[in-house]
Amino acid sequence: MSSIIQLLPDHVANQIAAGEVVQRPASVVKELLENAVDAKATDIKLIIKDAGKSLVQVIDNGSGMSVTDARLCFERHATSKIRQAEDLFSLHTKGFRGEALASIAAIAHMEMKTKQEQEELGTHIIIEGSKFVSQDVAVLPKGTSFAVKNLFFNIPARRNFLKSETVEHRHIVDEFQRVALAHPNIHFTYYHNGGELFNLPQSNFRQRIVNIFSGKTNEKLVPVHEDTEIVSIQGFVSKPEFAKKNRGEQFFFVNDRFIKSGYLHHAVMAAYEGLLKDGAQPSYFLYLSVPPHTIDINIHPTKTEIKFDDEHALYAILRSAIKHSLGQFNVAPVLDFDRDSNLDTPYNYQNKEASTPTIQVDGNFNPFSDDKPNKHFSTHRKTDNASSWESLYVGLKHDTDSSLEGELAQHTITDIADIEFESEEVTGSLFDENEIEHSGNRTYQIHKKYIVNPIKSGIVIVDQQRAHQRILYEQFLTNMTVHQASSQQLLFPINLFFSSTEMELISELQLSLVNTGFVFEDANDDHVVISGLPVNVSEGEASIVLEQLLSDLQDGIPESSFSQNDSIAKSMAKSLAVKTGSYLTEKEQENLVNGLFACKEPNVSPFQKPTFITMRVEDLDKKFAI
Ligand code: ADP
Ligand code: MG
Repeated sequence: MSSIIQLLPDHVANQIAAGEVVQRPASVVKELLENAVDAKATDIKLIIKDAGKSLVQVIDNGSGMSVTDARLCFERHATSKIRQAEDLFSLHTKGFRGEALASIAAIAHMEMKTKQEQEELGTHIIIEGSKFVSQDVAVLPKGTSFAVKNLFFNIPARRNFLKSETVEHRHIVDEFQRVALAHPNIHFTYYHNGGELFNLPQSNFRQRIVNIFSGKTNEKLVPVHEDTEIVSIQGFVSKPEFAKKNRGEQFFFVNDRFIKSGYLHHAVMAAYEGLLKDGAQPSYFLYLSVPPHTIDINIHPTKTEIKFDDEHALYAILRSAIKHSLGQFNVAPVLDFDRDSNLDTPYNYQNKEASTPTIQVDGNFNPFSDDKPNKHFSTHRKTDNASSWESLYVGLKHDTDSSLEGELAQHTITDIADIEFESEEVTGSLFDENEIEHSGNRTYQIHKKYIVNPIKSGIVIVDQQRAHQRILYEQFLTNMTVHQASSQQLLFPINLFFSSTEMELISELQLSLVNTGFVFEDANDDHVVISGLPVNVSEGEASIVLEQLLSDLQDGIPESSFSQNDSIAKSMAKSLAVKTGSYLTEKEQENLVNGLFACKEPNVSPFQKPTFITMRVEDLDKKFAI
């Protein structure tokens, strides 16, 4: 039989390699930014159009390339960063594989301009799908510019698999932030669709973090310092009270390279032991320096995971360093000698009374407290007979044959919903005190989790958290789609600070949020001024609701306004619903049950989990018969 093995042509091999290196526009951003850093640039500009689908461009003022190198850099395994295998153990650069440019050039239209400082003229190359289209001399500034257009033009399947612009853009911002955080000594600017999204002047670590994640971050940070033979650690962790619900701001850098490590994350969490509420996540920005020969970066193609020689020691050192910092902070304010005076409050503001109310979460806030109208359970929808939902059964029984009751009890839950939703819109509180008091039908809360209520046919057991989610969800949806949302005006507008990416999401969502009852007086680079809130959101809850919403929509805002409203209503219902573990007074229990059965779909939570179950007397009888 004849031989069948052949060497793949270079452009095919490059396309295959590209699959590993370039998953999405953000991968191109990462590679180009890292090359610029490796070229010792002090000023790097990132220009993106349409979330990288039309253009990714990186302009640096680094070393530039000679004419020969300008041509060679597109070859596979062409690198200036290592010469022999041993060099792998003393790496000080981001790249070393010599694969990135060859891979990108294989699947995009690429234009490169580069000039070294000592040269008079530079080189201008156009390469498309690995084919050199042109090479010219050109008058250029020192440094290099790579423009990548029409990514995946020759791999339509890949192009079609790209997610929405919001998602792709989110990935790009992530990569940008990782590189920018690792190199505060470099000036970075980032333009998206012509607008400047970040402008990060040369600074120190602390200021870089603050510049990226907004001014409010500064007061949250506690410095961490540790120097040992194995590792030296510096950076910041957030004070426990600023822990968030999502893991957005957690960064490890090892020798200036962003890495992911579940193990080290665990070490950080261990340091916070006992200081965080369940599920709360601290922010951290930790810079570890280790001798290059004690790590192996080679184990992951995109190099965000690395292997350490002595992981156990690293774990212990990291944990105790953070514990120490947090402890110090708790006992006395930490003396922070690195403190940047630019971040301090300007003198004339120091003794001023704050004019905007601070945003504090009121730990004692009880949505069900008796001394104010229970806005959480007041709803726009009300059935004429919903003040005691059980009367539906009673009523039916009266004007129908009694056998129907048994039949009704056997109906699926959906049937209850059908019957129930004869409801007409009547404004006002669902809960009418007198009627409930006279109904003589007690509800019982068990394990601060379920509400049990006798009904004609047996008992109903309601899951309080899910039921409340359903009620709130329908309220929000109705407000957003049907009603003019009612909102409560705030006496003093509140300022909420967000990072620029978060601000971008908020501005995209603004219209839907306004429909829920939010009133935005102003939106800025890093904060929004809110002068009105939806009726069922208290001042203290405003930031929680928005943070949860941003974290729920991290993977992208749904395209259609219908599903956008749906996501917002779900997220807000989740944030605001009374939780398992909350004690409810009897009145609140009744209110909850009534509210649930006035809903369009009372049988499931917005997340499709059952909200209640019923048990017929016959079922109980059967159990006792055994
Ligand atoms: P690697 O970074 O792994 O070496 P790349 O394919 O990313 O591989 O780049 C190939 C080579 O091109 C680099 O080793 C470097 O010599 C050169 N190069 C790439 N980008 C730049 C840049 N922005 N400035 C100067 N040289 C660059
Ligand atoms: Mg590289």
